[in-house]
Amino acid sequence: MLIDTHAHLYADEFKDDLSEVIERARQAGLVRILLPNIESSTAEAMWDVVKTDPDLFSPMIGLHPCSVKPETIEDELEFVRQELKTDKYIAVGEIGMDLYWDKSTRQLQEMAFIEQCKWAAAYNLPVAIHSRDSTGELIKIIRKMNVEGLTGVFHCFSGTDKEALEIIELGFMLGIGGVLTFKNSNLREILKDIPLEHILLETDSPYLAPVPYRGKRNESSYTSIVAETLAQVKEDTAENISTITSSNAARLFRLKELPL
Ligand SMILES: [Zn+2]
Repeated sequence: MLIDTHAHLYADEFKDDLSEVIERARQAGLVRILLPNIESSTAEAMWDVVKTDPDLFSPMIGLHPCSVKPETIEDELEFVRQELKTDKYIAVGEIGMDLYWDKSTRQLQEMAFIEQCKWAAAYNLPVAIHSRDSTGELIKIIRKMNVEGLTGVFHCFSGTDKEALEIIELGFMLGIGGVLTFKNSNLREILKDIPLEHILLETDSPYLAPVPYRGKRNESSYTSIVAETLAQVKEDTAENISTITSSNAARLFRLKELPL
């Protein structure tokens, strides 16, 4: 049993063969796939996917840091605020900071992140955090804002061993995907010292496909490759890795109805 805690299966990349992608995911043992939102314009496509199988898909709502723009931020945040009132979402995401693509909106990204974290705590929802060239920065922000009850996952964790420890000390989880299979990644070394209880599996489909599909379109069935790679790192069985990480996901995202 596997859970892909981060997949954009509503992206254009899947519009021609989504049903086959879903079928392969089921065959690979996926029992749940969590869909993070990007901005207001992507919510409809996300819901179209959820409606194909509400038992398999769970949607999040949030404004992605790369979609933070001075001219639209007010409307975009208002959209998230209104959607949260509907109680249809499993988490606030994805939110965070991306200083790789655009440093000029740094202040606005921080503001949007803090605002959405406060809403998440108010609704008792976890957050799915996107951090690119900003993991240390986000750790500092989370410490400083000190929002009670706030929890979540650093999706596609990239950072140092020290940052990994700081994240789990804050009560957050590390989202691990295809990067773990890359030869040049330091993740294997870092994860050796991180207890499995703090790790979630994800794909970030259609991005960051694991080896041997690196550079190609990623899909949720490849979560099993991440599980197998993590099993090697932890000198454990893929089955055990799947069970523990799935129950971590069930705990964080309150997936009560899953047989875990
Ligand atoms: Zn994402």
